[in-house]
This record gives sequence, structure tokens and C-alpha cells, in this order.
Amino acid sequence: MRISVIGCGYLGAVHASAMVELGHDVVGVDVDGAKIAQLAAAKPPFFEPGLPEILTSASASGRLRFSTDIADAADATVHFVAVGTPQTRDGRAADLSYVDAAIEGLLPFLKPGDLVVGKSTVPVGTAARLASVIAGRGNGATLAWNPEFLREGYAVRDTIEPDRLVYGVADERAAAVLDEVYAAALAAGTPRIVTDYATAELVKVSANAFLATKISFINAMAEIAEATGADVTQLADALGHDTRIGRRFLNAGVGFGGGCLPKDIRAFTARAEELGRGESVVFLKEVDAINLRQRQRVVDRAIEALGGSVHGRKIVVLGVTFKPESDDVRDSPALDVAVQLKGLGADVVATDPQGIENARLRHPQLSYEPDLDLALRDADLVVLVTEWRPYRDLDPVRVGASVRARTIIDARNVLDPETWRAAGWHYRGMGRASGA
Ligand code: NAD
Repeated sequence: MRISVIGCGYLGAVHASAMVELGHDVVGVDVDGAKIAQLAAAKPPFFEPGLPEILTSASASGRLRFSTDIADAADATVHFVAVGTPQTRDGRAADLSYVDAAIEGLLPFLKPGDLVVGKSTVPVGTAARLASVIAGRGNGATLAWNPEFLREGYAVRDTIEPDRLVYGVADERAAAVLDEVYAAALAAGTPRIVTDYATAELVKVSANAFLATKISFINAMAEIAEATGADVTQLADALGHDTRIGRRFLNAGVGFGGGCLPKDIRAFTARAEELGRGESVVFLKEVDAINLRQRQRVVDRAIEALGGSVHGRKIVVLGVTFKPESDDVRDSPALDVAVQLKGLGADVVATDPQGIENARLRHPQLSYEPDLDLALRDADLVVLVTEWRPYRDLDPVRVGASVRARTIIDARNVLDPETWRAAGWHYRGMGRASGA
């Protein structure tokens, strides 16, 4: 099939390359000329494990092209829309201007039988509105909404072998076209749910709302655990054995971030209010508040660990990305903590295996040191905020020899407190008995 992918960011670049893997002929279109130049040279414009390999093989096959000109989508019959839907600058709602612009841009090139497929995460009701915009043109094209569930860090696998496919469609033909697009994944047994637009849009936002709730739930339990001397990691292990609850996404820590969960739950509450149903999801505001509170708790812990003031003290922040295996720093709790500590006068040195370039663009006021050993030298306090493997694997004895004070805040609860304490460290986790 001939496919276009409009918007080649974290979602679209992976999707375009993966569609070639699934056997199609693809053109990726983006308004960002620098990004397109990199992709056209088979260089991923961001870090995503597995993307270099599929981008290289897709480009070499001659079935993947990139362009800044939407007119190059004219030959395709299926057009995926994967542009951003960030939070509006002045409110909680989703900014749909990029989606609207992408659809407007596509309209002159749509032909009878073409299918436009929304991938971006949008407020419920958007697909129905866009379907009438497309129908209004009378060019015989139709719309489907096919939300994306990929996780950064696992995006390639999640796109080629998704947990499930959800099609929001207005007619059977659209479902048949999507079946053809995803034939390889369906043949491998991927479950698919064919439904209406509104349900498909809601599946995505409610999945993110559920995941966010699970994380804030365990962080709330961590707050209570701390007040009572209980240990939230043991609590989570015990809860997780209940198959109705499950252990995944029950890790207490500095909370969630990134370009999806925070803005998606805010947009969900904003949309529910527009629908006169704000009270149905009012709990998501508390989920958001609990989440943001964790960042503050880490900062407070740092102040406490340094005896009441961080001013002039060297604090090494391990991690700036919102999660490991990604270079994405959008709404990153780690970066937020680093910025807050810097604002309080600390001498902050942040390090990260992949995220420094992006972090520097947003927060040039911070000092960055890519070399972990150099970063740690003479630290008064170490704060682990993103659970990259090299940080999880740190040897407390070796690190202990280069820091000024052996004090660590494990804001992801990924270190073994006993091992660190045995090496002479003052260890503080989140919702774990302080033990010291
Ligand atoms: P992103 O910012 O990395 O990418 C968006 C891209 O769209 C950018 O490259 C931008 O230049 C381009 N763009 C904007 N307007 C355009 C236009 N008119 N024509 C062509 N290109 C245009 O964002 P992302 O993380 O890829 O997210 C995209 C959408 O996918 C969002 O709705 C997001 O919520 C959703 N989503 C993201 C993920 C994820 O993990 N990143 C997962 C699932 C869903």
C-alpha cells in the first residue's frame, strides 16, 4: 500500500519506518526541515532504541521517503496524521491547531477512496468534527481514528507488534483498509477492536488516565507509608500479587512525566468539563496534584539531607529525561527537580546518557556533565531521578570514594538500601522507611 505519515516526531518517524517493515511504500511529511533532512539521511532525529536499524533498512529498500511538502502525500491512499497535540499555553486543554493544519494541508490532495487515519491523541469529539471537514470537501475521502499506544523506549516493538489495535471508524470499508495496513500484525495475532470514533478516542485517554492514576495511587501510599514507618515497595509487591491489581506501574517515586500522560489527563478533564461531565473525572486533578507533589517532596528531601539549605552545595542529578531509554525531556520530573534545586541556589550538575542536548535547549542555566564519573566528583548530594541502567548499577563503594559526602536520594526506589547503607551512605528513598 502507499502510505503517508504526516508529522514525523517520536510517533510519526517510528510509524513511517515501521510501515515499511510491514511491507508498505511510505512518505513521511513534516514541517520541520531539519528533522526531515536528518530522516532523509537515515539519521534518527531523536534517541529511540531500534529506530536506527529500521530507518536504515527502510531507507535502503527505496520504499521510504521524507518530504517537507505535503503535496508529496498525493500518491498515497492512506494518510496517517501523527502531529503533536500539546497542552495549550494558557489552559489544560489540548492544542488542536497542528491537527487542524495537517488536515487542511491534506485536503487538496485527497482522492476518492483515500483514508485519513488519525494517530494523534485528541479530545473525544475531534474525529467526528474532522470527518465532517473532510466530507464537506466532497472529495470522496473518509476518516478513521486509530490511537497509538506506543511507549518511548519500546516504540519500534510496540508499533510492529502492538498489544492491541483500536479502529474508530464510520464504515466497514475503513476497517478493511486498516486490516490491510496491519495485515502482518494481525496475522501475528494482535487483537483488534473495531468501534466508533468516540470510543476509539476515549480508549486512548482513559488508558493514560488509568496508568496515571495507578502511579499516583502508589505515590499517595508512599506518603502514608512515610508517615507510619511502612515500606511502600514491600506494600506494592504484596498488592501486585493480587492479579486484579498487578505489580506493573506500582512503583513509587518522583512520578510520571513526558509528552503524554500529564497533558493527556489535563486535556481529559478540560474536555469532560466542556461536556458538562467535569465531576466524572475530577479525581484526575488529584492524580495530577499528587504527581506534581512528588517533585516537591524530592526537593524538600534534598534540603533536609543538606541540613536545611542547598545553597552553594554541589548536587548531582542523575537523569534528565522523563524515563530511561529516551532522550525526551518534555515535562520531565527529573529536569523539574534539577531546575528547582538550581533556583534554590544549589550548584547543580545534571547528567544523562541521552537527554543532555534536549535539556540544555530548555534549561541552559543548568550545568551538564555527560561523563558520570566526572559529574559525581566532589558531590555533596546525589539525587537519582531517572532510572537509567548505569545509575541502577552504580557501585556505592566506588562512587563513595569520589563524592564529598555519601548522601543519596533514590527518587525512583531502584537501589538496594542495605547495600548502599553498608557502604557508608545515608540513603533516602520514597516511601521507604528512612532507616537513617
Ligand atoms: P512530536 O512533537 O515529537 O512530533 C510531532 C511532529 O509533528 C513534529 O515533528 C512537528 O514538526 C510535526 N508537525 C506539526 N505540525 C505539522 C503539520 N501541519 N504538518 C506536518 N508535520 C507537522 O510529538 P509526538 O510525541 O510524536 O506525539 C504526536 C502525537 O502522538 C501526540 O498527539 C501524542 O499525544 C501522541 N502520542 C505520542 C506518543 C509518544 O510516546 N510520544 C505515544 C502515543 C501517542
